[in-house]
Amino acid sequence: MSAGNARTDRAVQTRAAVRAQDARDDEHATLSTSEPSAYQRLREHLAYLEMTAAAEHLADELDRGMREKASPTQVLERLLAIEADATRARRLRGRLRFARYPIHKTLAEFDLDFQPSLDRKVLAELSTLRFVEERRNVILLGPPGVGKSHLAIALGIAATEAGYRTYFTSAADLVANLQSAHLEGTATYKMRTYTGPSVLVVDELGYLPLDQASANWIFQMVSRRYEKASIVLTSNRGFGDWNQVFADPVVASAIVDRLLHNATVINIKGHSYRMRRYDAAQQAKGGRAMVA
Ligand code: ADP
Ligand code: MG
Repeated sequence: MSAGNARTDRAVQTRAAVRAQDARDDEHATLSTSEPSAYQRLREHLAYLEMTAAAEHLADELDRGMREKASPTQVLERLLAIEADATRARRLRGRLRFARYPIHKTLAEFDLDFQPSLDRKVLAELSTLRFVEERRNVILLGPPGVGKSHLAIALGIAATEAGYRTYFTSAADLVANLQSAHLEGTATYKMRTYTGPSVLVVDELGYLPLDQASANWIFQMVSRRYEKASIVLTSNRGFGDWNQVFADPVVASAIVDRLLHNATVINIKGHSYRMRRYDAAQQAKGGRAMVA
């Protein structure tokens, strides 16, 4: 039998099953036959409630229920499970869109063997997302290319998948957006973008030195989130250099203080993943590996 025939047969069976069900539903109906059947009303309820996935699968699930002599509870459970799954997936897509990750990265994609300096236990602990519950910060430090952004994004996405609201921004964008909102008189409103989510991923702090006003915006963000919600932050500068990143050493130490008060710090010391093929080629040639 061809697949097309199988589909047609199945459609016929489904329609027959639905008709049989309708007939049973209408057995006690006293109104005229123009009255919609229970099945039709059920479809309408599902449409009205915008339960499109359940509406789509209604005929199939009723059919399957009858074939398998399932209880009404089982049929309802399966139908609502389909709707719940669809809603869950839609909400996750919405949270991911809101969070604006520049690229999709996962913890599973991260090659731990390439980065032996990284403590697997620490990473495994972070992947449980307890840091989000405990409002702990995660600070990822290290030279370019070692996977700081990858891990920060992967932790953010894992939290998003677990149901948390998260948001990604580069430090430079955060500062620029707050500064321009400030000039428009909407900084308080804009700040909510950075204070609202359970996890704020701030990428690339310290790539460019920050002036006094910029440092102040970082301070505002850090102190508002302090002990309320997690920050996952990446920087290519060690804390010792932060005095140079921020124009004002007092603000710098106030920021570091709050960030570190309840934080997991991961210092990645390894080689650049971007340069791995180049490094390998250099080593093969007997030359010295270039360290990014
Ligand atoms: P950083 O932010 O530290 O400069 P990235 O996270 O941007 O580095 O990493 C550079 C690229 O290399 C990205 O595409 C990232 O996914 C990849 N990468 C880095 N480290 C690893 C790793 N250990 N396993 C898999 N991919 C990695
Ligand atoms: Mg990066």
